[in-house]
Amino acid sequence: MMSEIQQRYQAVCERITQAALQAGRPPAQVQLLAVSKTFAAEQVREVAALGQRDFGENYVQEGVDKIAALKDVQGLVWHCIGPLQSNKTRPVAEHFDWVHSVDRLKISQRLSEQRPADLPPLNICLQVNIDGGPTKAGVSPREALALAQAVSALPRLVLRGLMTIPDPLESFDAQVAVHLQAKRLFDELHAALALPQFDTLSMGMSADLEAAVQAGSTMVRVGTAVFGVR
Ligand SMILES: *Cc1c(COP(=O)(O)O)cnc(C)c1O
Repeated sequence: MMSEIQQRYQAVCERITQAALQAGRPPAQVQLLAVSKTFAAEQVREVAALGQRDFGENYVQEGVDKIAALKDVQGLVWHCIGPLQSNKTRPVAEHFDWVHSVDRLKISQRLSEQRPADLPPLNICLQVNIDGGPTKAGVSPREALALAQAVSALPRLVLRGLMTIPDPLESFDAQVAVHLQAKRLFDELHAALALPQFDTLSMGMSADLEAAVQAGSTMVRVGTAVFGVR
């Protein structure tokens, strides 16, 4: 019999496949990032046993502890997706593979300086405030290109793309519309930067992954629908 987590995981994989087909996109273009914040290492292990490799964490210490607890599982890829303060960059640079929440130069400079020489460059997505007010996290769309150029020049980072967290919207069409704004910005930056590794548009969560895939997401970050209610 399938466990609950196994059923939920397969249902999410199926949602992603269906959304991609609906959008006329190859399902392999959309990666699942399983967001394991607040769940125990043993639950991550259960999802990893189903073949999942990419996991997202919001809180630095919780993430570092889970990474250590799961060292024996081969090939896991750890993504830091939560807000990052400059005094917390070192453990992130030392333990994670990706950071999705970079929204200012100072943070990226510290991550580059602190990335250990024996590890590959740290993968970076810039968090863009695609819909929000002045107090919301993320670089403004109009400042995104300048930040992207500065980040892409840092030696120990590789700029992979953009990440967005739009405010929740009820209707599918409204969700698609805001995700399309992010897709347009991504395409503009992709053309302007001409970086071969700028290939990731991290958007869509449990409630809006179909709309995000419709708009061009390449990585959906799904917590609740995989692990259950936090
Ligand atoms: C928690 C979180 C998610 C996952 O949200 P769900 O609604 O549980 O799928 C995705 N992205 C970020 C940045 C998060 O903090």
